[in-house]
Amino acid sequence: MRELAKGLFTPTDPERPLRVLITDSSRLARRIVSRALTDEIPAAQLEITSVGSGREALQALDSSAFDLITCSLMLPDMYGLELCRRVRSDDTHRFTPFIVITAEPYERIMKAGYSAGVTDYYDKTRGFEDFMRFIRGFATKHAALVGKVLYIEDDGVEATRTIGMMRRHGLEVVHTRTAEEALRILNESFELVVADFYLLGDMSGGDFLHTVRCGLRDSREKLPVLVVTGDQSADMQAEIFHAGGNDFVSKPVMEEVLISRIRSLLQMSRQFRQLSQQSNQLRRLATTDSLTGVYNRRHLLQRVDSLVNDPDQHPLWVAVIDLDHFKNINDRHGHGIGDNVLRELGRLLSVEFGSDDLVARFGGEEFVAVIPAHTREQVEARLDQLRQDIERLRPAGFTVTASLGVAGTGEQPRTSFGDLFRNADQAMYEAKNGGRNRMVFAADTPAS
Ligand code: GH3
Ligand code: MG
Ligand code: MG
Ligand code: MG
Repeated sequence: MRELAKGLFTPTDPERPLRVLITDSSRLARRIVSRALTDEIPAAQLEITSVGSGREALQALDSSAFDLITCSLMLPDMYGLELCRRVRSDDTHRFTPFIVITAEPYERIMKAGYSAGVTDYYDKTRGFEDFMRFIRGFATKHAALVGKVLYIEDDGVEATRTIGMMRRHGLEVVHTRTAEEALRILNESFELVVADFYLLGDMSGGDFLHTVRCGLRDSREKLPVLVVTGDQSADMQAEIFHAGGNDFVSKPVMEEVLISRIRSLLQMSRQFRQLSQQSNQLRRLATTDSLTGVYNRRHLLQRVDSLVNDPDQHPLWVAVIDLDHFKNINDRHGHGIGDNVLRELGRLLSVEFGSDDLVARFGGEEFVAVIPAHTREQVEARLDQLRQDIERLRPAGFTVTASLGVAGTGEQPRTSFGDLFRNADQAMYEAKNGGRNRMVFAADTPAS
């Protein structure tokens, strides 16, 4: 429920309790609304004022600022919509959510209500358990805006007005007068750009868009751009969308229009960021060995054929890297220390093999590295270096060594990974038999 409370708070003071004004002539109805709120929001974060008439409501609104106003359609001294109209004429509550709670949300009343400034209706025949769900959904739609906006506008008067609107709704705004300056300071911390189309300097808003979309490769989803333009012709609209703008507002900018466009663009780009983060995370989880941080066997097997089958990656090498007497390490120091050794080895392998190579934990204490486009001399030098580095690693305070078996495609591009692996594994066993802590090339490995 913290989410709701946070959503409805103004971001300038997130610690301030949520101030709600409940207006209804029926005490029972007021109690029900207030119960729905107190059930969901901790008492320390909630301040409820409950009144029975329009006059009392106006008095309360005069003396303090509210974050949410609820009202019944009929009050003893005025209609709910009349109260709303009066609330909207005052600057303090011009944008405060105003919800009419009624048993008869007829379309005619609803239309009149929206033009009076009603934010939304709640049909009380739906029951009050449903009320909180309504408030929750409503809170995400109407919460004050949070986000950092880069705003490009060369006209000082227009800029001052528009910056005021954005800041009033909670946005952090950084303003520049030219597109050149905006490009200099543009970074990941900005979630949205609001750009005037005609600008001083050599670059127009269109040039700016072109640079962002084609030069920096920031997609419409990643960095939305809202264009402000005085020219609403069809040609201009086409130009804006063609250049990569997400949407436009026309000058003179109207607060409601600007803010609702900004809200939906921010929502869209946040959903996009969240989804791409999640999918990156899932991909990492699915392809990585959790203990050692290198790829897992499944991922290696999925990727390896495309490397083996690609002549450009030849000569290609497969190395089987198996720790020596690892069972003794577990027996002597415990399984936990054994795990630490594997973890440290994983870290070393991640450093020594780059994005051109493929290294995976194949099972237990055995790793497989696929190394494309190396001569035999190159791969021999690299792997012998690796063997020495493992020997020097002392991952748990004592020396650990590994035996390596290597097989390569040489000039035989028809080899399969299965064959390479079998040959490399056999060579690894020869290394074990030869005394361990050494590297052996498979017998039929070509000389170069
Ligand atoms: P060799 O030099 O011949 O390779 O001897 P070895 O002891 O390394 O080989 P063996 O195959 O006999 O033993 C491997 C051991 O690795 C047995 C198994 O318990 C241990 N092992 C496998 N996976 C893990 C793991 O995730 N953590 C720990 N701590 N031990 C593991
Ligand atoms: Mg301009
Ligand atoms: Mg072993
Ligand atoms: Mg083994």
